[in-house]
Amino acid sequence: MMNSWQNRWRDSTKGRWTKYFFGDVNAKRLRGIFHLNQLFAGHGAFKAHQARLLDKDKCFCGKAVGAILHTIKECKLWESQRKLWLHGWTDMKLKTLLKLQLVRNSVIQIVEKILTKGLDT
Ligand SMILES: [Zn+2]
Repeated sequence: MMNSWQNRWRDSTKGRWTKYFFGDVNAKRLRGIFHLNQLFAGHGAFKAHQARLLDKDKCFCGKAVGAILHTIKECKLWESQRKLWLHGWTDMKLKTLLKLQLVRNSVIQIVEKILTKGLDT
C-alpha cells in the first residue's frame, strides 16, 4: 500500500508546493498542526490563495502579494517573529527553515494572527 501511495504521489502533477516539503509519503504525517498545515498545503490563511476566491491578494502590509514566501521571510509585519531566528536564516530555504522548532513556532503564530486578522476584515 505504501508503494502504491508513493507512486501515485510521485506521478501526480498536483500538490507541487506540498511535494517541495514532502517528497516521500509517510503515514506518521497524517496528524499535524493545523497552522503549519496551512503552509505545507499552500493555501488557507495566505492572502495569495484567498485571492483566487476573493480577488484580494494583497498582504496585510499592503506592500506585496500575500504569498507564503513573502509572508514568512519578508513581510515587515512579522519582523519581530524573525528576530530570534538563527543568524543566516535569510539564506536558508523555507524547507530547511521549517525543520527548526523556533521557526515552526513562529509560523504557527503568524498563521494564527493572519487567520484572526482575516476574520476581522
Ligand atoms: Zn506583507
